[in-house]
Amino acid sequence: MKTTNLGYPRIGSKRELKRALEQYWSGKTNIETLLETAKGIRKENWLLQKEQGIDLIPSNDFSLYDQVLDLSTTLGCIPERYAALAKNPSFSSHDLYFAMARGIQQDGADITAMEMTKWFDTNYHYIVPEFTKNQIFNISSDKIINEYKEALELGIQTKSVLIGPVSFLLLGKEKESGFHRIELLERLLPAYEEILQQLVDVDAEHVQFDEPYLALNLSEKEQRAIHQTYAYFAAKFPNIKITVANYFDCFGENIDTALALPVHTLHLDLVRCPLQLDDILESNKLNSYTHLSLGVVDGRNIWKNDFEKSLQLIQKAIDHIGTERILISPSCSLLHSPCDLDLESNEENLNGEIKQWLAFAKQKLDEVATLKQLANKENLSDSLQKLIKNSEAQANKKTATLIHNQKVKQRVAALTAKDDQRESSFPTRQKLQKNALNLPLFPTTTIGSFPQTKEVRSWRANFKKGNLSVDEYNVLLEKETRDTIEFQERTGLDVLVHGEFERNDMVEYFGEQLSGFAFTSFGWVQSYGSRCVKPPIIYGDVSREAPMTVKWSAFAQSLTKKPVKGMLTGPVTILQWSFVRNDQPRSETCTQIALAIRDEVVDLEKAGLQVIQIDEPAIREGLPLRKEDWNAYLNWAIKAFRISASGVRDETQIHTHMCYSEFNDIISNIADMDADVITIECSRSQMELLDVFATFEYPNEIGPGVYDIHSPRVPERAEMVALMEKAAKQIPTEQLWINPDCGLKTRHWPETREALIEMVAAARECRQNS
Ligand code: GLN
Ligand code: ZN
Repeated sequence: MKTTNLGYPRIGSKRELKRALEQYWSGKTNIETLLETAKGIRKENWLLQKEQGIDLIPSNDFSLYDQVLDLSTTLGCIPERYAALAKNPSFSSHDLYFAMARGIQQDGADITAMEMTKWFDTNYHYIVPEFTKNQIFNISSDKIINEYKEALELGIQTKSVLIGPVSFLLLGKEKESGFHRIELLERLLPAYEEILQQLVDVDAEHVQFDEPYLALNLSEKEQRAIHQTYAYFAAKFPNIKITVANYFDCFGENIDTALALPVHTLHLDLVRCPLQLDDILESNKLNSYTHLSLGVVDGRNIWKNDFEKSLQLIQKAIDHIGTERILISPSCSLLHSPCDLDLESNEENLNGEIKQWLAFAKQKLDEVATLKQLANKENLSDSLQKLIKNSEAQANKKTATLIHNQKVKQRVAALTAKDDQRESSFPTRQKLQKNALNLPLFPTTTIGSFPQTKEVRSWRANFKKGNLSVDEYNVLLEKETRDTIEFQERTGLDVLVHGEFERNDMVEYFGEQLSGFAFTSFGWVQSYGSRCVKPPIIYGDVSREAPMTVKWSAFAQSLTKKPVKGMLTGPVTILQWSFVRNDQPRSETCTQIALAIRDEVVDLEKAGLQVIQIDEPAIREGLPLRKEDWNAYLNWAIKAFRISASGVRDETQIHTHMCYSEFNDIISNIADMDADVITIECSRSQMELLDVFATFEYPNEIGPGVYDIHSPRVPERAEMVALMEKAAKQIPTEQLWINPDCGLKTRHWPETREALIEMVAAARECRQNS
């Protein structure tokens, strides 16, 4: 029996890579310094994994930006728009690489970055490969072999990790019509062959191919491509030991394809899909030589492994195939875990009681090694000790008063069908709201935040450090809010917002005030490039101790006769952007959050807010990977939103907001949310995203974003009028609102002022024309 790891966080436990990258990009350091830091992180990671008892340690899991981009450049898959840069001798391969990742505006060159999108259902973003019909693949980098040799110099013979050919193709997109990217496989395989040959030439023993698409619904053609790929490798390289890694979900209908692969090891994610172990062991379809890598330690969450549960799974596998063909591993790459729990020494954020239930990447490796020892009955005095401690932690978690709040549980259990229903149906509410709010045709509003200037951020930082008293801090925020309300009134917006100056982040702000949430000091996880996020940890039953936003919203409303919109983050988004407890279904936790938000909505109404927005930008990204699981998720997610929104009178107008608004598959669920108004990101798509609302005859009101807030560019009035005219062809005018795409927090004031003045002028023009 061996231990193996699929990948380790590369940002550095103190985000060393982030700093090194940003200094390099800003020109403060040179490439040598950056590469030195990178090398240091790799070395530290390799030695740490060895020390933690990992037998098969990965290499090529490191990346300066993204592992998919690394593979694109390794395979010479460079989009045409960078061709001139690639040939320019004063431009290094690293410059080219970062230009592809981030775009470049320099010396007259102005080239957009490659597209970035989410890595399956994680919060990691990868750079999307671009393919042409006659795509040529030729090896253009030695990264893989170099990192292998680098580890070898430290005395570690690594397993090189690559994205498998089929997943690589499926992750990308076609840049011209007339072909499907999977048809490029024949051209791609020889390039992979070259990489494998290089590895064989230096006597590499193991290679891991990640094929996470095996967890998705594959077509027959794609299944055949998987088979073809690994048959090809097996024929060419009978002696190299290939692992095919699947993670994030079950194999589903791909199981026969997976089991038939002529490979040395199949990796299974037994956290996301524990039941598939039975299917595999009992099917008798596993090749007699294929090993199983049992991914029992959760690579995507921060909870301590339940050793007894894992040992049961491992024992089951041993009973069927013996110990020799078994590897113990995390469920997926540890890229998605924070680095090291040992760094968390701030008791105020994360107390000892909570810490005993947690494990970060480094601790997870120890869990993997300990599980092997326990299953193998090695080093027993030590490992049994760990087992006892582990069982104790699991046991006290079941009853800890810190976690369990009977009142919350009872409230969830007592929910009835009417708790997720508004009093009347939308047409009735619409009439009442029209009377109450007295808004013009094409009402204008914004999505919530106004510029978070350097000053605003420094006030918050100084307040946290204790350099500003509560009173001093509040005075500053009051002034900023007052100025923002005055600006909106002067500009003639119809529904105003307070500006969200008191908020750091739309989830953290609520998590900090809700019971059941904890925060780490160094729990960073890479999101993309140098960007990391520090998700809150939901460890216990969630409840709201006191109003969270009423003070600022009511203050803003007291300054104006126009309606101010209260601003909340919705339950699904709070759930989706946190580490969620695993001792109860996600739906249960989401419902608890929904009730907390519901109380806040009711309190805002009581405080005189007639319009309340519950942001749910993460509803779509929470969709499970496998389509057959969508309905179950949508049922509870949409219901949670409705619970949060349904405590108010008909006259109170509930808005919701979503970014990335591709709703083609889920428009009926979006309609089911029954928000009185939905605002969506739309301008980049030139209103195309509205098609699906029109076809569906979406009944409630919609604010399609008329300008892109991701850019400092000030939109012209005519442009916005044209967009709204386009929208009005699809959606009845009485249903339309005018607003930007998203919140304005990343913008500066000058362009924000100009843009909103233009937007209001555009609305006036639309009213005149209709
Ligand atoms: N109300 C939030 C804001 O304006 C919404 C942010 C978001 O959609 N991601 O900042
Ligand atoms: Zn948004």
